[in-house]
Amino acid sequence: MIVAVDGPAASGKGTLGKRLAAVLGLRFLDTGLLYRAVGLKVAREGGDLDDPDIAAAAARSLDPASLDDPDLRGDEAAEAASRVSAVPAVRAALLDYQRRFAATPPGAVLDGRDIGTVICPDADHKLFVTADVETRAQRRYKELRGRGADVIYAQILRDLRTRDERDSRRAVAPLVPADNAFILDTSTLTADEAFERAFAHIVGGEPRPRTRGETN
Ligand code: C5P
Repeated sequence: MIVAVDGPAASGKGTLGKRLAAVLGLRFLDTGLLYRAVGLKVAREGGDLDDPDIAAAAARSLDPASLDDPDLRGDEAAEAASRVSAVPAVRAALLDYQRRFAATPPGAVLDGRDIGTVICPDADHKLFVTADVETRAQRRYKELRGRGADVIYAQILRDLRTRDERDSRRAVAPLVPADNAFILDTSTLTADEAFERAFAHIVGGEPRPRTRGETN
């Protein structure tokens, strides 16, 4: 089974995706880490984040074993990811890895921006997890404060708006819900409520119609 979980930054899709994967016995891939790793690599090597050739070379030489670097979770990596991810050759270089991950038994939950639209258009289930930008900024603010970080709410809100704008407007694989995605607005939901709705949708939902000749 393949489950696509797409949505904007800080919508809760990572937490939800991980939990779904654990309960459904599937593997989990946070695809944002791939773009973060490419962006951070370019930044660390002093490259120009807006140079498509430099970003594409970093994507082609990416070692997926490096995805547990804690710096990938930081703001520098997030900002760099959002810039290199607009480069078509970067997306193309990361496509095969994501598709192979999804197709490896017993299947997977992938969280990202274009899983249901580009990476796994035939996913068994597609969720689009969203929340209004102020709610997302509040959540991120509390999370970072909880970890002792000295952050300013207005700055977080501004960064999220910039990333939303860039992710939604880019020419390749923009952030849009797949036509047949289940839209889950978590603005007024707790993480448990969001999980319950997503899980109910997956186990209770109509199975996706199979195309001719397709087995399972
Ligand atoms: O999900 P996360 O916040 O880690 O993603 C960081 C950035 O990577 C996003 O803002 C987006 O620009 C990019 N990204 C993407 N496609 C994905 C996952 C992430 O373009 N599938």
